[in-house]
Amino acid sequence: MSAAGALSSAFQEVVILERDVLPASIMSRAGVPQDRHPHLLLAGGLQALDSLFPGFAQDLAAAGAVPVNVFKDVQYERPDVGALPRRDCGTSLLCGSRPLIEHTLRRKVTAIANVKVQSQSRVTEIVPAATRPMVKFENDAGVGAAIEADLVVDASGRGAPTLGLFDALGWERPQETAVGVDISYTTAVLRPGRTSFDWLNLVTLPDPATSATAGLIIPLEGGRWFTSISHHGATNRPGTWEDYLAAARQLKTPAIYNAVYKLLPPGGLRHFVFDASRWRHFERLKRLPRGILPVADSLCRFNPVYGQGMTVAAREAKLLREILDRVAGEADPIEALQAGFMSEVGALLQAPWNMGVNADFAYPTTRGQRPERYEESRQFEAALFRAVVADPVVQRAFSDVVQLVEPFDLINSPDIRQRIEAHSLAQNA
Ligand SMILES: Cc1cc2nc3c(=O)[nH]c(=O)nc-3n(C[C@H](O)[C@H](O)[C@H](O)COP(=O)(O)OP(=O)(O)OC[C@H]3O[C@@H](n4cnc5c(N)ncnc54)[C@H](O)[C@@H]3O)c2cc1C
Repeated sequence: MSAAGALSSAFQEVVILERDVLPASIMSRAGVPQDRHPHLLLAGGLQALDSLFPGFAQDLAAAGAVPVNVFKDVQYERPDVGALPRRDCGTSLLCGSRPLIEHTLRRKVTAIANVKVQSQSRVTEIVPAATRPMVKFENDAGVGAAIEADLVVDASGRGAPTLGLFDALGWERPQETAVGVDISYTTAVLRPGRTSFDWLNLVTLPDPATSATAGLIIPLEGGRWFTSISHHGATNRPGTWEDYLAAARQLKTPAIYNAVYKLLPPGGLRHFVFDASRWRHFERLKRLPRGILPVADSLCRFNPVYGQGMTVAAREAKLLREILDRVAGEADPIEALQAGFMSEVGALLQAPWNMGVNADFAYPTTRGQRPERYEESRQFEAALFRAVVADPVVQRAFSDVVQLVEPFDLINSPDIRQRIEAHSLAQNA
């Protein structure tokens, strides 16, 4: 949807083909099974959506999303340094369910006169063409239709239409970097109980050397709370609320257990298993099939525990908009758009990818190729967190980087580097 909004100013008509029946109200749907689990929209994503769709943040807040100041309202518990200081780092989130975020965005997108959402339209194939690719789709009754388009954006999550097109053309599929994490999520929606908390987000991380279980509580609209327990590389998962409480008791601190047992027990638990983060390196190819652009999860799927996917998708849409402005005068603006996007998207993906993958490889069960100079980066991370605790300037920089508001280079800027080193020296003195 964010890509459709970004493209709408430059194309006569934008059609979103969606296989689901889209609900008129705020509710889960089959095509996005992950929507029953917490979906944190990072500050960088909120800013990107608000710039693409002016008034988006205001609408999301008006629809019931809960404002959360980072880190004033966030209890973020790490195994190495304990809870991070509750300082105001200058950014705010709006916490709500994924259906709420999607509903608010869909209203913005469908208000654009030349964007049309066509539901119950499952894409079956992209037919290659020298000039304009054709997208074939069918409804639930199997009745087929096709649209020819100047540009086909594959935002299907798994990228199957684009990969199918590569196969049909006899092209080699792009190289892929995969990091196996086998994250198992167990989520409950809780209602207010006997107490209130002095935080709005609570995160408890494990020491990966001894445990693979993390916990989270975030608010959602309607005065409810999401709580999730995630296991890295684990096969067992809590099957009942009693099991869930037992797992919460095993976390590094009792904070989540102490909070959830005071809330009203859930109607049921929801589960999700995420096998691997996957970056398909379309950006390394010399060219893409004419008029085809894979975006968001189709291009790169992040480990969901870091809450990056929607934010990256929104930032990619913003990048598309910027490139569109630049290529308007080109002889072949479609090819220039494809090439321009692919030449810049790698830099956009690299920082969130590195942050997630570096954290994942601390768990012995993680599969795949460790990043180069991994031990060095772990040591740097340890020094960074000591400095985050001691120094408000470093904490703000960390906050901006992890929220994907600022590029990772901010952490490497001379001032921040110097501060991190100063705290390391003080620690070792
Ligand atoms: C458990 C879990 C928790 C997550 N938590 C977070 C979080 O906290 N923060 C965050 O930012 N991200 C989170 N994510 C990631 C986030 O869900 C995705 O990164 C994001 O939704 C990607 O958007 P997308 O458009 O690529 O795919 P999706 O949002 O999955 O959308 C794909 C759409 O394409 C439709 N579709 C698929 N195939 C076809 C077809 N053939 N024809 C027509 N329509 C089709 C689907 O119905 C769906 O509507 C989480 C993911 C999981 C699994």
